Amino acid sequence: NKQVILKNYVDGIPKETDMEVKLGETIKLTAPKGSSCFLVKNLYLSCDPYMRGRMRDFHGSYISPFVPGQRIEGFGVARVIDSDDANYKPGDIICGITGWEEYSLLRNSDNLQLRKIQLDEDIPLSYHLGLLGMAGFTAYAGFNEICCPKKGDSVFVSAASGAVGQLVGQLAKLHGCYVVGSAGSKQKVDLLKNELGFDEAFNYKEEADLDAALKRYFPEGINIYFDNVGGSMLDAALLNMKVRGRIALCGMVSLQSLSSSSQGINNLYNAIPKRIRLEGFLQSDYLHIFPQFLENFKGYYKEGKIVYIEDMSEGLELAPAALVGLFSGKNIGKQVVRVAEE
Ligand code: NDP
Repeated sequence: NKQVILKNYVDGIPKETDMEVKLGETIKLTAPKGSSCFLVKNLYLSCDPYMRGRMRDFHGSYISPFVPGQRIEGFGVARVIDSDDANYKPGDIICGITGWEEYSLLRNSDNLQLRKIQLDEDIPLSYHLGLLGMAGFTAYAGFNEICCPKKGDSVFVSAASGAVGQLVGQLAKLHGCYVVGSAGSKQKVDLLKNELGFDEAFNYKEEADLDAALKRYFPEGINIYFDNVGGSMLDAALLNMKVRGRIALCGMVSLQSLSSSSQGINNLYNAIPKRIRLEGFLQSDYLHIFPQFLENFKGYYKEGKIVYIEDMSEGLELAPAALVGLFSGKNIGKQVVRVAEE
């Protein structure tokens, strides 16, 4: 059973060499009787920035660290091969937390956020890791529940071409908002403007002064900032928010790549006179609206109201590079890895 192993805890930007792809134990392709487990063949794995947080020796977070020397795990789509759980039958396709390996033995009671996937010929299976999975749901819950969008609002999204950002921007357009995205290359900026329907987009790496860049695109200020990156972009956004603006603190990928210290925020004072509401959130707090999200996003996608960009790496051997690539912006759209043919 080929596996991706975490070799050591990581400080700073994760590297491919922090992981190793190697043959683990030979396993029987059966679920032990009486175990309540089921055995899956992993088909697609999701690369997510939060996984960086599990690569350090820190136990105070909402999720426990990976164990050096053992295989890592994350969201995946897999096919059930054998089962000792009456709820999962051979042939079922599931989405949930699975091992970064060819085959995994899973137990529903291990809080794996498992759900069965209804096959739909219009929707590729891997989309359940992004459009119809955690990324899509983060965009949906974060934008609708935290940002309280109104028609005509000015919306700024960072890491806008990524898994979450691309969907936040398109949702904002569906709400009748003016939407600007930032991203880290010309190719991504073009994608935002030409394929994802953003009104404007800019390459933050080419802006010496982020405050000036935001003033250029939002001369009258920002109603909603959906923050995927934290750090200096959040600091600049604070200077440009309108009175009663909303900031959804979704993720801080710019800080995840740093070592233990964090970049300072100098402009937080603005939140007081401008009565800005900053709210952090975890998508997992909103699972009660997941069915509503699935129905809406499936509909939007099938009706052509939203498009979805996916970046697929081929094979478990390339999984470490794919994961590490999130922190240099190598991915264009949602990063997934195909582990096996369907
Ligand atoms: P993406 O697909 O957006 O991939 C990460 C992107 O971040 C890269 O492509 C890169 O794009 C950008 N990036 C990397 N390093 C930096 C940096 N130093 N400064 C600025 N941008 C950087 O990832 P996701 O869409 O999956 O995740 C986006 C954010 O949402 C993350 O912060 C993640 O942790 C968070 N998240 C939060 C959840 C929640 O429940 N709160 C759930 C899921 C995700 P570019 O080339 O544009 O720089």
